[in-house]
Amino acid sequence: MNERILIVEDEAKIADILCDYLAREGYATHRLQRGDEVLPWLRGHAVDLVLLDLMLPGVSGLEICRELRASGLAGNAAIIMTTARIEESDRLLGLELGADDYICKPFSPREVVARVKAVLRRTRPNAGGRTGLELDLERWQASWHGRDLGLTAIEFRLLKQMVDQPGRIFSREQLMDAMHGTDRIVADRTVDSHIKKIRRKIAEVAPEAELIRSVYGVGYKYAPE
Ligand code: CA
Repeated sequence: MNERILIVEDEAKIADILCDYLAREGYATHRLQRGDEVLPWLRGHAVDLVLLDLMLPGVSGLEICRELRASGLAGNAAIIMTTARIEESDRLLGLELGADDYICKPFSPREVVARVKAVLRRTRPNAGGRTGLELDLERWQASWHGRDLGLTAIEFRLLKQMVDQPGRIFSREQLMDAMHGTDRIVADRTVDSHIKKIRRKIAEVAPEAELIRSVYGVGYKYAPE
């Protein structure tokens, strides 16, 4: 599935160019011209990244950024602010309000594409098998549509091992190695109990999602529908 980018930009020419370049890179784009259109639109649509102009008619980019983060409306979508204002205080305010990056105008479309890629790489390390599950490798945090699953380090490592290769069946032996390295002293059944806990934690926030399947007699696989 293509990553979805919402472009909020009141200058039609800039919006055109950004749409073109990002579409060419395989992103699905949507554009809005006014600040006050953003929140209503996001109530009905999910996106992976918002390219947000700072100076907008209606509501300012900073205000939108603040509201998106406060309301959780954009989930954990990344936000890149774009602006002609270059005061450091604005830049810092944007980042404080939850923007992931900041691009000063005038920019080259290529630069924007590069920054979009970098931010998505950083914020969605496993975008390939997207299901709503996100693994934050910096914080060792797994979340479902932005809700932290509260995994322990070992559970995180176990889940990551499977998520990295969706559909592959892992034996308990292999999962054990992923959890502990080669010097392990625990019994194979602990894999089962860890998997059970991970499943329970996923079920708490997403009862309908069956992400980890048991493969009888062999082990487990990560197989989101
Ligand atoms: Ca503007």
